[in-house]
Amino acid sequence: MISLAPQTQKSQLAPYPPAERYSRQILFPGIGTEGQQRLASARIAIVGCGATGSALASLLARAGVGTMRIVDRDYVEPSNLQRQSLFDEQDAAESLPKAVAAARKIAAFNSGIVADPQIHDLVPSNTESLLAGFDLILDGTDNFETRYLINDFAVRNFLPWIYAAAVGSYAVTMNVLPGKTACLACIFPESPKGMIETCETSGILNSAVSLVASIAATEALKVIVHGTDASDVRRTLLSFDLWTNDHAEISAARPRPGCRACAGRDFIHLSGEGRPHITLCGRNSVQIHERSRPINFAEMERRLLPHGIVRHNEFVLKFWPDPYEITLFPDGRAIIKGTTDTALARSLYARYVGS
Ligand SMILES: [Zn+2]
Repeated sequence: MISLAPQTQKSQLAPYPPAERYSRQILFPGIGTEGQQRLASARIAIVGCGATGSALASLLARAGVGTMRIVDRDYVEPSNLQRQSLFDEQDAAESLPKAVAAARKIAAFNSGIVADPQIHDLVPSNTESLLAGFDLILDGTDNFETRYLINDFAVRNFLPWIYAAAVGSYAVTMNVLPGKTACLACIFPESPKGMIETCETSGILNSAVSLVASIAATEALKVIVHGTDASDVRRTLLSFDLWTNDHAEISAARPRPGCRACAGRDFIHLSGEGRPHITLCGRNSVQIHERSRPINFAEMERRLLPHGIVRHNEFVLKFWPDPYEITLFPDGRAIIKGTTDTALARSLYARYVGS
């Protein structure tokens, strides 16, 4: 039988010429040939690759952003698939780390760019090594603690970053252009109470995610192609509720006098003051990232086997000491599901992993 399929392996195919791949985007006057070249040489970091991070990474990777670092602490689960558009059922079945699953998906649709997966929780001690050297940082996180950390790093280094969040049917986003516009701490000196609800507690529409990611990704294109001084780059905090149709825009055109970060140059989140090593992490789970403890998965699996079901791949080890579920990463970080009691989580970690 004669196969009609191409005989060449994927790796032997010549990459699609950029002029062809991006032709429709180059035709758009805001981008053009020169803009496309700027996108190709841009380096961005996306922190958090859940729903918003997936959508941002997908849009910007397809748009041809040349280098993209994806930082995420979590692994794919079935409940992610409703809105986290870079993942599929196989990723969930394998409990693949989201950063790795995202980079694989991106490589499958755009082999001409670099997607660099980093399986880490962004914390003060690794922020410099994970975010230094990038032109723009995008927010795909689900919590204010990490956003304040990004804000501190970006304001300190005069790096643009884009705040983006979606919960329920509500989407909110703001460009932070340090030294020019307001930063996150200018607008929210303290973590806003009403926004503490997360999609774990209030549910989320995938369309709210798409909306906020589309706006933030477009602002990212403008910043990369035209720079932070361009008049088209939005200088407001923009919010939109897709269900009620309420929308609002608050000026963020100037840093707030007296802002701790912009004016005081006091970066309390980056210095990690009072930051706990054990944190609640979504619904009914606790994360332990107390210290670096390199784990040999094969050895750990042998040790845990008498105590419950255990399996691992090269990225995560999962263990089910009834009624809990412990997910271990190679650096010793763990997510313990089935409790919100940090003392209990700590004792489970000590018992099964080590104290
Ligand atoms: Zn500020």
